[in-house]
Amino acid sequence: MRKPLNPAPRPSATTNRFGRSSLGSGPSAANSNTRILGTGPVARPGASSPLKPPPGGSLRPGLHPPAIIQRDALENLGLSSERSRERMVGRLQEQGITDQRVLSAMLAVPRHLFVDEGLASRAYEDAALPIGHEQTISQPWVVARMLSVLAEGRELGKVLEVGAGCGYQAAVLAHLAREVYAVERIRGLYELARNNLHSMRLPGRLRVVFGDGMAGLPGNAPFDAIAIAAAGLKIPQALLEQLAPGGRLIAPEGGAEQRLVLIERTGTASWKRQELDAVRFVPLRPGTQY
Ligand code: SAH
Repeated sequence: MRKPLNPAPRPSATTNRFGRSSLGSGPSAANSNTRILGTGPVARPGASSPLKPPPGGSLRPGLHPPAIIQRDALENLGLSSERSRERMVGRLQEQGITDQRVLSAMLAVPRHLFVDEGLASRAYEDAALPIGHEQTISQPWVVARMLSVLAEGRELGKVLEVGAGCGYQAAVLAHLAREVYAVERIRGLYELARNNLHSMRLPGRLRVVFGDGMAGLPGNAPFDAIAIAAAGLKIPQALLEQLAPGGRLIAPEGGAEQRLVLIERTGTASWKRQELDAVRFVPLRPGTQY
């Protein structure tokens, strides 16, 4: 059984060590782990209209869709959530995601099972959503983008994810990689991820670990790929060292302004760095939290 979420963080709780941006909109559960699009409107087909009809809404003519769609109801309407997922994947394609393996993986993983019941009807919007403890499930586009970059032109063997959160990205990864280690530093989220992933049938092996992912998992290194789902001012050296030769790491980096950074290990002591999209993520923090 799923645990209830912590109360949603109050706006005042959204300031963190990165402070607020000049726009006065610092990272919060509602806007973190998302892409930051340039100023002004950006042509994104479908972006302006929310998912319609909501999951379950269309199959029950004469009934008004409930404000909160219960998880059981949504599970019973598996077909409906599958359609919502297809639409989500269609939008990802429109937004430049082309890797068929990533698109298939995102089609396969039921994102609505990773969020609180009250948010399940919004699970297939291209948005980050709160998962409790002031953290968020990453925006689908961000997950797709990060994993596409890691998997481009290669098969993924052993992969490390830092910041498992509710376990969604780890589940997607387990469709792409042979072996996944997902580390989470907040005890309640570690347990949430384990619960969420427990009964899920996944093609790859997946282990959720409670600990400080900034230290990596030296006992399981080297990794072919590392995905960091939280932003630090600098990518921890320990993680760079745990990349296999030729391995890739993707992470958001920065404070008030962040970018996705792709690092490729080119030799024993050499790494190549590339800056990608502007994003906003929750902070990468040291240590563990009970
Ligand atoms: N991967 C998640 C995103 C979770 S949000 C998804 O599928 O949507 C980022 C997560 O990183 C948070 O749960 C936060 O607690 C965690 N985190 C931050 N610093 C960490 C660290 N040093 N080690 C492990 N997890 C960390």
